[in-house]
Amino acid sequence: MMKTIIEPFKIKSVEPIKFTTVPEREDILKKACYNPFLIPAEDVLIDLLTDSGTSAMSARQWSGVMDGDESYAGSRSFFRFERAVKRLTGFRYIIPTHQGRAAEKILFTLVGGKGKFVPNNTHFDTTRANVEYSGAEAVDFQTEEGKQPALVADFKGNMNTEALETFINEKGAKNIPLCILTVTNNSGGGQPVSMANLKETKRILKRYKIPLFLDACRFAENAYFIKKRERAYAGRTVFEIAREMFSYADGCTMSAKKDALVNMGGFLAVNDADLAGQARNILIVTEGFPTYGGLAGRDLEAIAQGLEEIVDEHYLRYRIRSVEYLGEKLILAGVPIVQPPGGHAIYLDAARFAKHIPPHQYPGQSIVCELFRAGGIRSVEIGSVMFGKYDAKTGKLISPSMELVRLAIPRRVYTQSHVDYVVEVVHEVYGRRNLLKGYRIVEEPPMLRHFTAKFLPIR
Ligand SMILES: *Cc1c(COP(=O)(O)O)cnc(C)c1O
Repeated sequence: MMKTIIEPFKIKSVEPIKFTTVPEREDILKKACYNPFLIPAEDVLIDLLTDSGTSAMSARQWSGVMDGDESYAGSRSFFRFERAVKRLTGFRYIIPTHQGRAAEKILFTLVGGKGKFVPNNTHFDTTRANVEYSGAEAVDFQTEEGKQPALVADFKGNMNTEALETFINEKGAKNIPLCILTVTNNSGGGQPVSMANLKETKRILKRYKIPLFLDACRFAENAYFIKKRERAYAGRTVFEIAREMFSYADGCTMSAKKDALVNMGGFLAVNDADLAGQARNILIVTEGFPTYGGLAGRDLEAIAQGLEEIVDEHYLRYRIRSVEYLGEKLILAGVPIVQPPGGHAIYLDAARFAKHIPPHQYPGQSIVCELFRAGGIRSVEIGSVMFGKYDAKTGKLISPSMELVRLAIPRRVYTQSHVDYVVEVVHEVYGRRNLLKGYRIVEEPPMLRHFTAKFLPIR
């Protein structure tokens, strides 16, 4: 008989969580202007806002923290970090940054600009913001499969390669400085990209001499899905699969806050010596000297150790299974979710969950607020709040193709009973979904509005 898949670790250190009542949480929500990003973390019972920087570090990582070399130049910890990244990615030039978006900022400052286009399977919000801030246009090429939340398929994170090629012919290869594959595809539902799709994307780009970059935040989760779902890879190790994924790319940006199991960090890695030189010049102005970037030596140690731990297949089996477990329980309760469960999160399909709330009244935001009110669970809307845009002429809201609520699972943090509690709360809220109210935005910044926008429920 198949035994239960257990957490492949023991807990050495714990952190208490604070319990609150429904009336207390109503007050907290009101003070936070109904935006989960504005809720003090202390007031959250189960925090599923993000899997970014929320991992529990291992004893070995913590000992690396003590062992970090804080020399300004040529730190031993930098060389350990550089070795770990090179061993995994095979890229020649490794540039540490304080997090993923700092790597994006440097990259698009160099290759972006007005009149340029950057294709991606789906841009993550900071990637899109950095591309657009440079003046370039960020264009998504999700597959038709990937756009259907209820459809079960193995690789819904894939790039629509036919549409990509048509686009290259239309816009001209010289206007496309590089193309990105986000693995796993975060905004598209945490879904993986197949090796076949990676290869096909590379084949097309090579013909037009366009470099391929990976947005590699969740490379290990993606590699594990390839092992499980792409027959030719069943016998390969996750490390080998990851190596092969990187081998098709010319560089990557990475947020170490995801699959490097640390609380802060990132890097830019490239093969092109010129690009690396220019990137380091910007790095020195904005982040720091090239052997620490925006990080302390201890952070670099923790990343190096984390990159070794993340490819452990006992860990990945537990990780993917625990997310799938949450998905299965919700499906059993009839709750509409993006299928199949992704690598780092379960996405509630808000458009079906709260059918009566139109996109411009933010159904996802409404569910987010209710999950907090009912159970102290913090989640995040990924839909019209995060990706909605106003039409320049009419001022009307243009909504993205999906309205989702993300329940992101921090790595190695919550146990099965935490997850069972989450299932109970979502189930309860789903039971009275018809009573959910729409929201309106009363204040918003010009970019990345979901972080700071203020909302009010519509009466
Ligand atoms: C988190 C993330 C980023 C940005 O990284 P930060 O470390 O948060 O700046 C970029 N792309 C993807 C796919 C991400 O998940």
